[in-house]
Amino acid sequence: MFADSAPFSLERLVVTVAARLMAANAATAAQVSQDMLELLVDYFAVDVSFLRHNDHSIHASILIAEWPVRTDVPDPDPIGVVYFENADPVFKYAEHFKKPAVFRPDDADYQKRIEQGRNIPQTSLAAAPLVSGDVTTGVLGFVKIGDREWREDELNALEAIGSLFAQVQARVKAEEQLRYLADRDDLTGVYNRRALLAHLEKRLAAGRSGPVTALFFDLDRLKTINDYLGHTAGDRFLKVLAERLQERTKPKTVIARLGGDEFVVVPASRLTAVAAEKMGGELLDAISERVSLDGEVLARTVSVGVAQGVPGRDTTSDLLRRADLALLNAKAAGGNQVAMFTDEMSQEAEYRTDIELHLGSVIEDGALYLRYLPEVDMRTGEVLAAEALVRWDHPTRGAISPADFIPVAESINLAGELGRWVIRTACSEFASFRAAGIGIGTVLRINVSPVQLVSAGFAESVAATMREFGLEPGSICLEITESVVVQDIETTSITLNGLKAAGVQIAIDDFGTGYSVLSHLKALPVDVLKIDRSFVTDLGSNPDDLAIVRATIALAEAFGLQLVAEGVETEAAAITLLRHGCHRAQGFLLSPPISATDLAALLTKGHVSARFSAPAGE
Ligand code: C2E
Ligand code: CA
Ligand code: CA
Repeated sequence: MFADSAPFSLERLVVTVAARLMAANAATAAQVSQDMLELLVDYFAVDVSFLRHNDHSIHASILIAEWPVRTDVPDPDPIGVVYFENADPVFKYAEHFKKPAVFRPDDADYQKRIEQGRNIPQTSLAAAPLVSGDVTTGVLGFVKIGDREWREDELNALEAIGSLFAQVQARVKAEEQLRYLADRDDLTGVYNRRALLAHLEKRLAAGRSGPVTALFFDLDRLKTINDYLGHTAGDRFLKVLAERLQERTKPKTVIARLGGDEFVVVPASRLTAVAAEKMGGELLDAISERVSLDGEVLARTVSVGVAQGVPGRDTTSDLLRRADLALLNAKAAGGNQVAMFTDEMSQEAEYRTDIELHLGSVIEDGALYLRYLPEVDMRTGEVLAAEALVRWDHPTRGAISPADFIPVAESINLAGELGRWVIRTACSEFASFRAAGIGIGTVLRINVSPVQLVSAGFAESVAATMREFGLEPGSICLEITESVVVQDIETTSITLNGLKAAGVQIAIDDFGTGYSVLSHLKALPVDVLKIDRSFVTDLGSNPDDLAIVRATIALAEAFGLQLVAEGVETEAAAITLLRHGCHRAQGFLLSPPISATDLAALLTKGHVSARFSAPAGE
């Protein structure tokens, strides 16, 4: 390397080595060390040199760099890791020596060791210690085949160079520790989010091999452990899970905790979709196994979302978003299962995001309107009520079902505003019918979201709207779903009593989909039950549905409630309902949802054309 330049002084040698070593960092240290060994081999005209670090925790000397680099390393490598315990005296000496030492060919033990490792006869060795404080942290060795004398100034230079290597060693170690801490999750010791992102970034770079699999784990209801046993128990539980993931995966698998109870596992190898899903299932089983904590045996199920990314095409956030979407699907399907990402999931998510994006301005844009679903007496066709159903004319997607955008409105705090718009608009349209003398006595039914019902001042605001439009008590009925009643029974019952006092009727919508409300029926001021259309549609052919409908009819009678059947689509359903005593209904057989204008016309006429009767004699 420097062979052709004029021989330079020992001083210049030390300065040169110092300059190069000072510029080294954790990533370059090994290569720079090797380069310096090469330089030193040249300079001192020796045959072999090596740099070894002492690992005092395992009492061993570990090879870090060497020159020339051996190409035919025997297995096991007799000199890669040398335990001091069974090392020859020279190696033993390297454990704690503080000053350079020279070993000449008369040292028999030493010769034997060198012969084994390098297959060379007769050698001499100069060794300089790496010292940090009063600890010997390694050794720098120079081997000459045959014999070589070492002058004192040379040994002094080696001592200086040894201490330079010791400095690099200390710096790299500190750097690695810092990196380790910066990359780790404090609680579990697995990687943290930052490290995961950096890893995926690398794996998904163009030209790398793929696909890259990400498995997203989320515990089902960790909160109950925290609530029940405290946070320390919750933390220990998470540690156990991290350990299990580590135990059940290959060593190079990247495991990261994203915070909370979310873990991501990224296998090092390329997996087929089938293999990825299988791996998700195996890890799910491992995590679901019981854990003993403080004598309590706990088991928590987990949901897993699996997605794959193609290097150069998909980004880290693409991959994690898909795994997260799959996870949400696994949870939505009841948890304790693995879901593989599908394109359909991302279309759904896009649809939802698009709704979210446009929903904010939907009221100002005038994109909302109402349809009315007539409710009739099936025996006479008389229109008894009309249910207001909101519609949204989306700028690019056309008419969107309320079943799609009401839940989004609820999740982004727009349900209150949207609900107020529905109530005002419906009341105003109804008031205009009344002013024209039509629809007197017809009830206006309006759906309300759970959030509206528990918001402060709801009953007062409905009463004010009724007064504003001159609608008499009894002309409005609000429809609420069963689940909301049970969620917050106290607030709900205060609000419902307030509404009752203002002359507003209450209907339980989708009745039968959750029986939870039954026990409260007596205590709450409810006027109407609407049998969910899932029990009605196939009525006449499905005996289970019939049993439920009959039970509901009996219940309504027992509590003195009106009963309305939803979703009457067939004559068989209509006749079956009539036969069992339910004559109020709505559904496509009777009328589809219609515009306010069409409703005005229908109310003027007073009845739909369809009418039915139960077969005589029953
Ligand atoms: P819902 O309250 O059960 O309303 C009845 C739904 O069933 C309406 O769907 C209606 O068009 C549909 N339907 C009526 N007859 C039949 C039938 O014979 N067969 C079938 N298969 N369906 C029938 P829509 O308008 O899409 O409303 C869906 C849900 O959206 C409603 O279910 C209600 O829960 C909610 N919703 C509608 N308007 C509003 C509103 O203004 N506010 C709130 N909070 N929710 C609303
Ligand atoms: Ca309804
Ligand atoms: Ca319903």
